[in-house]
Amino acid sequence: MSVSEKIRGSIEKASWIRKMFEEGALRKARYGPENVFDFSLGNPNLEPPAKVKAILRELVSDNSLGLHRYMSNAGFVKTREAVGDYLSNLNSLSFGPEDIVMTGGAGGALNVVLKAILNPGDEVIIPAPYFVEYNFYIDNYGGIPKTVNTNPDFSLDLLAIEKAISPNTKAVLINSPNNPTGRVYGKDELAQVGQFLTQYSQRCGRPIYLISDEPYRKIIYDGLICPSIFDAYRESFLVTSFSKDLSLAGERIGYIAVHPLLADKDIIIEGLILCNRILGFVNAPALMQRLIPFVLEDSVDITEYKRKRDVLCKGLEAAGYTFTMPEGTFYLFPETPIPDDVEFVRALQEENILTVPGSGFGGPGYFRIAYCVEDKTIEGALSGFARVMEEYS
Ligand code: PLP
Repeated sequence: MSVSEKIRGSIEKASWIRKMFEEGALRKARYGPENVFDFSLGNPNLEPPAKVKAILRELVSDNSLGLHRYMSNAGFVKTREAVGDYLSNLNSLSFGPEDIVMTGGAGGALNVVLKAILNPGDEVIIPAPYFVEYNFYIDNYGGIPKTVNTNPDFSLDLLAIEKAISPNTKAVLINSPNNPTGRVYGKDELAQVGQFLTQYSQRCGRPIYLISDEPYRKIIYDGLICPSIFDAYRESFLVTSFSKDLSLAGERIGYIAVHPLLADKDIIIEGLILCNRILGFVNAPALMQRLIPFVLEDSVDITEYKRKRDVLCKGLEAAGYTFTMPEGTFYLFPETPIPDDVEFVRALQEENILTVPGSGFGGPGYFRIAYCVEDKTIEGALSGFARVMEEYS
């Protein structure tokens, strides 16, 4: 057999996603794309801000020599300085360029961190529901994902995390604002995580790391702010990207920031930089790195996503759906009226509505709607959502 046994298994595990895509493609071909309501992907529908495009045009026409060459595997110093200054303004800590590694998106950043810290057999605790790729990323380096439940409102269940900690625990991986639930973890919640990780780390005589995946940090509603993990815990890594807030998902640009006072910081940073190189990323894309210092404070118009959220939630509520109002991201994670979320998602498909079963995110009994779509997709789907709910309730 040509493909490895492990990847064969991974293909099978990921096959429901492929089946969803295939079904969606078939329906689009059969009924016309305008008659299929595709909420399956977290691919931002908004264009990058005009300022991003204008700066990119300027950067592309800069004829200075050497702009497109290899650089330090950590990225351009100027870019890392700018990211460091940006984070210093947001936190009560001072970040220098040495605390930042530029990466190929948040996905690249997660892989670099996990490769740098995991020994085979090390466990990583992930609160469910979670971003679907975490299992693969952890497994890439011989790690073992240990999922734990969250509370019914999707806040962190600290007791569940505490119970899951074992002598093999290397890290806790959290994601806020959360894909798929839209939940934003509060300051107290993070402080409590920080407190008991500090205690456990002291007890085991080695750090248990906190990895915080935050590509949706700026996509947050109703005046909320996303608290910093750096205030909550010292042994922490922030991984993020500009995929969602600047709609640059295809450009693969993000970064890792480490807590400036992280224990053994020098060797860990050296490890991260080496992993960026030997995973084959080599360095984050140069053109995008040159853009970032100009746009760190910017984002797409978040009120657009808020409006979409409100229209969708109002329509689904009227149709009898139950859900926790998302505080951020562009995802909604309603309950399915029957335990079998896959069956419910299939019934939605019959209405040409494409969503994803919660089981795929470790959240059976729910389904995910990615509402980063045109308004007409939301408006056009509401009657179908209502019909399917009526059929099942
Ligand atoms: N983390 C979460 C929670 C995500 O939802 C995604 C993408 O959907 C990623 C990481 C990967 O993002 P990127 O495109 O920056 O690699």
